[in-house]
Amino acid sequence: MNQQGHMESYGQPQPGYQGYQQFAYNNQHTAGVPTSQYGPYNGPVQGYEPTAAPQGPLRPTSGAPPTSLPPSTAAQSTAYNQYGQGDIQNGPAMTDQMQRFPVSQSYMPGGQPIAYQQYAPSPSNAQHLPNQMAAMQISGSTSNAPPPVSQSYGPPTSHRQTTASFPPTGPAVYTQYSTPLQNISSSIPQAGNPPQHPFPGQTVPASTYTSPPTSTGLTGMNLPPPPGVSRPTAMHGPPLPGQSQTGFPPSQPPTGHYPPQPNHRPAAPQTGMPGVVPGPPTQGFQVHPTQPSQGFIPQQNGSFGQMRAPQPNYAAPYTGTPSYSSQPQSQQKRLDPDSIPSPQLNELPPQQKTRHRIDPDAIPSPIQVIEDDKSNRGSEPFSTGVRGQVPPLVTTDFVVKDQGNSSPRFIRCAAYNLPCTSDMAKQCQVPLTAVIKPLATLPADEAPPYIVDHGETGPIRCNRCKAYMCPYMQFIEGGRRFQCAFCSCVTEVLPHYFQHLDHTGKRMDYYDRPELSLGSYEFLATVDYCKNNKIPNPPAFIFMIDVSYNALKSGLVHLLCEELKTLLDYLPREGNAEESAIRVGFVTYNKVLHFYNVKSSLAQPQMMVVSDIADMFVPLLDGFLVNVNESRAVINSLLEQIPEMFGDTRETETVFGPVIQAGLEALKAAECAGKLFIFHSTLPLAEAPGKLKNRDDKKLINTDKEKVLFQPQTNFYSNLAKECVARGCCVDLFLFPNQYVDVATLGLVTYQTGGSVYKYTYFQAQADGERFLNDLHRDVRKVIGFDSVMRVRTSTGIRATDFFGSFYMSNTTDVELAALDCDKAITVEFKHDDKLNEDNGAQIQCALLYTSCSGQRRLRIHNLSLNCCTQLADLYRNCETDTLINYFVKLAYRGVLSNPTKTVRETLINQSAQILACYRKNCASPSSAGQLILPECMKLLPVYLNCVLKNDVLQPSAEVSTDDRAYTRQLAISMDVAETSVFFYPRLLPVHKMDVDSDDFPVAIRCSEERLSKGGIYLLENGLNLFIWVGMNTQHDLIQSIFNVQSFGQIDSAMSALPLLDNPYSKKLRSMVDMIRAQRPRFMKLMIVKQDDKMEVLFKHFLMEDKSASGGASYVDFLCHMHKEIRQLLS
Ligand SMILES: [Zn+2]
Repeated sequence: MNQQGHMESYGQPQPGYQGYQQFAYNNQHTAGVPTSQYGPYNGPVQGYEPTAAPQGPLRPTSGAPPTSLPPSTAAQSTAYNQYGQGDIQNGPAMTDQMQRFPVSQSYMPGGQPIAYQQYAPSPSNAQHLPNQMAAMQISGSTSNAPPPVSQSYGPPTSHRQTTASFPPTGPAVYTQYSTPLQNISSSIPQAGNPPQHPFPGQTVPASTYTSPPTSTGLTGMNLPPPPGVSRPTAMHGPPLPGQSQTGFPPSQPPTGHYPPQPNHRPAAPQTGMPGVVPGPPTQGFQVHPTQPSQGFIPQQNGSFGQMRAPQPNYAAPYTGTPSYSSQPQSQQKRLDPDSIPSPQLNELPPQQKTRHRIDPDAIPSPIQVIEDDKSNRGSEPFSTGVRGQVPPLVTTDFVVKDQGNSSPRFIRCAAYNLPCTSDMAKQCQVPLTAVIKPLATLPADEAPPYIVDHGETGPIRCNRCKAYMCPYMQFIEGGRRFQCAFCSCVTEVLPHYFQHLDHTGKRMDYYDRPELSLGSYEFLATVDYCKNNKIPNPPAFIFMIDVSYNALKSGLVHLLCEELKTLLDYLPREGNAEESAIRVGFVTYNKVLHFYNVKSSLAQPQMMVVSDIADMFVPLLDGFLVNVNESRAVINSLLEQIPEMFGDTRETETVFGPVIQAGLEALKAAECAGKLFIFHSTLPLAEAPGKLKNRDDKKLINTDKEKVLFQPQTNFYSNLAKECVARGCCVDLFLFPNQYVDVATLGLVTYQTGGSVYKYTYFQAQADGERFLNDLHRDVRKVIGFDSVMRVRTSTGIRATDFFGSFYMSNTTDVELAALDCDKAITVEFKHDDKLNEDNGAQIQCALLYTSCSGQRRLRIHNLSLNCCTQLADLYRNCETDTLINYFVKLAYRGVLSNPTKTVRETLINQSAQILACYRKNCASPSSAGQLILPECMKLLPVYLNCVLKNDVLQPSAEVSTDDRAYTRQLAISMDVAETSVFFYPRLLPVHKMDVDSDDFPVAIRCSEERLSKGGIYLLENGLNLFIWVGMNTQHDLIQSIFNVQSFGQIDSAMSALPLLDNPYSKKLRSMVDMIRAQRPRFMKLMIVKQDDKMEVLFKHFLMEDKSASGGASYVDFLCHMHKEIRQLLS
């Protein structure tokens, strides 16, 4: 295509343009931002002169007055007495804690007669799994490999043809800018850090493991309490005689997302549902014959030990299962796959006789754990006032009340009881890790963090460690000084911040100040917290659109330009501001770059072409970044004309590096932070900085060189990323590839600048437009902080040593983020550097300094206090497996940059085996070595770990592309706990069991083919994929109601949207799909899969409990393998 021709058509001479070379932005190469730019953030605090500054007014972001924040003391104390959970969790060290924790003090007034539960000998909180040898019916030997994920389905998505033509006005302003080619180094790509816990691998493939028949199985043994394990009896059921049961009426129904499901039997056939087919028999949980006939179900949480999170006196959900604690033997469930010959052995086919089969219903069920947590913990708010509480699971719908610790929506930990010594930590191998999501979106019924303005003196901080004022700081000497909870240093209270203490030592203004009473809040930052001590300009968004042949042909450019016209009305705004402060700019590119002047005073946009892309610069300042409302006419005109302008292009080559450089230079010139939205279709083969070659080579899979596939092929982009971070330039990348584009390299800048990668393989506007536009909308509109730095401070004894996520670090403590949005999480690992203390616990403070969408500089503070323990049993009782898995995913996905995937898989297995073996050795009751005993809080570790091991990144099937693996790797590395949870173990909902009269979803079933009924319809989602699977025997009525056809055979599996039918089943299912999509950060395209259809193999890829086509073990086989690993460690 003739660029010059376009230039002649569109260019106009413009004032200031000729002088462009006088601007100094051409060759500005700025080194990384020195940390000193954040002087007060990292360094000494200024402004401690005793000025009579006004007392910091509160600026709540919502309408509620700040004083109403924490509920009244009286109400709180009542609530806590009812549950007493804090007392249990904290142990008997309450007095000391009260000194340390003014927060919990108010909620725990003196004289707590029922605060301490009676401790009584109780059975181990282990899970003893039964020796059930029923024949398994897993038919999961799917020999077919799944086809590529990217399929083209979808309804016609209409997009308006842009008919306006670009008016040929004005003379050309095209100038050839020639500068010498940059010397592009091509040294070896940087490898990531190796996994933290290398362990010599034992290389028994899980899929070939056969359990040796050895030890004797035990059932129903009455065990003494293990040493060091003492637990409140109330955890196991109703209160003991004399214990108060008040305050929690047993009749109170849980208000969680799901209705209570006593005993979790298969739901009765739904009333009013046509064509309902009962689920397969395997959906029920069999009552073990040795169980007492009290409605006790083997899979019930609590049946294998204590509840996941202690809830003494929490009577309601347990009314049907009395007296666990008095019948310890009834809880002993043991799995000893090695010990007992299967009673069904003779009934098995000959090839199965060599193996003992385990009843899948007898091994820990993710669904059971999820449902138990929902019914146990979803009905009451989770109040954060007590140290070290394990929150409800991410799958439970619950309300959080901030009472001095951050909501689990902001911080979630793998362990809420940290071991006191590093020796203990090494022994148990449980990673001490937190997943932090600083800008997480809260539900509508939870107030966003309050904004505190301390005026020109800025936030109050510890003089020594610079920790921010928080509920853990202890005011002393009548309030004149405070002692830091993190470093113990004593700091003078500034006169304007002084306040008298009440008789308990608490400041009188405790409830008026979020920073004294809440776990999460924000400070307005002063100019000292700004780069170069200058208040930042509002950020900018630059849309950079590939206009090469592929992008035009797929319909992308038309679709995007049409959408941008309306999308620009939804740029993020500050609070109730009438319009967004964010300015926008536009660039198109193929082998050359086209900049557009869209200044409001122009009648038509002007294009400027830069064809010498070797040393990128921006040919215009004035008119490139504009206010949308002021320049709307010119912008709309541009968006109308771009598809026309390039409609007949034959240019197939693109550049990529210069595109990012151009955006970066534009932000530099405008002296603002911002985000580039790059819409890109091909491998950048054109001669330019950052040019790439096709180096895809699937033969490297399972070799020592496999890591190369995840590494960038040049360090050009690493260097560029560094510069982007220093300048607050975040890059979001929307990829539309028809072949290999090297996501590992193209995504690097995105990954290191806190951006997001989206990938639409074989994109066609009609089929994939809905997904793309939904993603784009959400991406443009979401809450985002620019030019951010995150620092995690800890109390003495532990420190943050490792960080995982989409960011850049130039030193060991500051997580630098060109931008951070509401979806991004950062996983932090802590290590001991001293002993911890049970009385003091451990405190974490995460401070995120960022620029808001209006250019306001702010600090968001999250605080969390954890318990510390000297008994390993306490640690294992207060763990969170979902968070542990999140950490393992990130550890593994970083590990593949420098290790063969086999090594990474073995490292995970070994660390997990050590965790479970340590429990077995130190916490579980003495028993046969042949028994697999799992800690209650970690009983899903094997099944979830197996899902991670089987994922395409670590164990790809033949059809998975190198780009898909790199893409998944980059996505997962910034996922929060809820996302990793569903991504690795998908949600599978029996649609035919939905209750059309309720807002609830049907109870999910386990991800295994044997759980699917031929007469059923199922919905499966994992945050990225959404399927509806239809069994071939589904009743015609139901098919008619949902698909508007008469029979199974007539269902069109190419549809990507359900027909809009006016009946309760269609409405309910469509509303379920909408709700699920709304819960996830990315839009999921719907795929219809019919039983035995060729697409079914793709669906089966997500049935994680089954053996996978790529050789991944079934859950049962993997559990046996883990058992063997544990036994080897114990022997
Ligand atoms: Zn300090």
